Amino acid sequence: MLKIKNVTVNFGGIVALNNVNIDIEKGAIIGLIGPNGAGKTTVFNVISGIYNPNTGRIEFSNYDITYKKTYQVSALGISRTFQNIRLFKELSVIDNVKISFHKNISYNLFDAIFRTSKFLKEEEQNHKKAEELLKIFGLYEKRFELAKNLPYGEQRKLEIVRALATSPKLLLLDEPAAGMNPQETQELKNLIKFIKEKFDLTILLIEHDMSVVMDICEKIYVLDYGEVIAVGTPIEVKNNPRVIEAYLGEG
Ligand code: ATP
Repeated sequence: MLKIKNVTVNFGGIVALNNVNIDIEKGAIIGLIGPNGAGKTTVFNVISGIYNPNTGRIEFSNYDITYKKTYQVSALGISRTFQNIRLFKELSVIDNVKISFHKNISYNLFDAIFRTSKFLKEEEQNHKKAEELLKIFGLYEKRFELAKNLPYGEQRKLEIVRALATSPKLLLLDEPAAGMNPQETQELKNLIKFIKEKFDLTILLIEHDMSVVMDICEKIYVLDYGEVIAVGTPIEVKNNPRVIEAYLGEG
């Protein structure tokens, strides 16, 4: 489904990614781990079109997306969350989700001039879809609260709901468990597995909480200093001497 081929990304003298190859099969939950500064978020940024690679190619469903813009990548079916929560804090929970139907909103604002009834119908459908997603994540009762008033763990969940609103095929989750307590983390693991099945998703997951990665990922890529140093099942990666060394050397 997603192929990252020989991708290198430089920032001035810093090599953030060095000849990286990642291959993600449809329907999988794949982990992307590595010490701080290893290049994990840069992988998400080149996939989602925030940065262009210096060399290499990225294919999504056999389609070259290497130099696509963020909105084009999103329209093709790739959605993401961010390491630092990026909600519209002064908007309600449900409006944060509905704002993600951006394609429909802009298209329909134009459309609305001519066909108001169609616009209203789609607005209603979007509203229902947003409500359904919020129910799955246990946020329905709080749909009219301001996003900024949600506890941190729920803000993280709302980020995922918002990413799902665009009906992606590939979901990129950047440290979804960060700042969550153990109970919330356990709930999150179940939710990720549940949404994968329900929405027929493929998921690429960056996570520092090893229990999340080890429990829900079929395959894990390990990055260190911008290079893939290991690929394998959770057990294989856990016992890989290069991985152990990379983590022990951290800090
Ligand atoms: P963390 O786990 O700390 O979030 P990471 O594995 O996600 O780290 P990246 O954020 O991808 O790592 O960063 C990889 C390297 O590239 C780091 O050395 C970082 O400082 C550098 N880097 C990332 N983005 C930029 C940028 N926009 N300009 C300059 N350097 C950057």
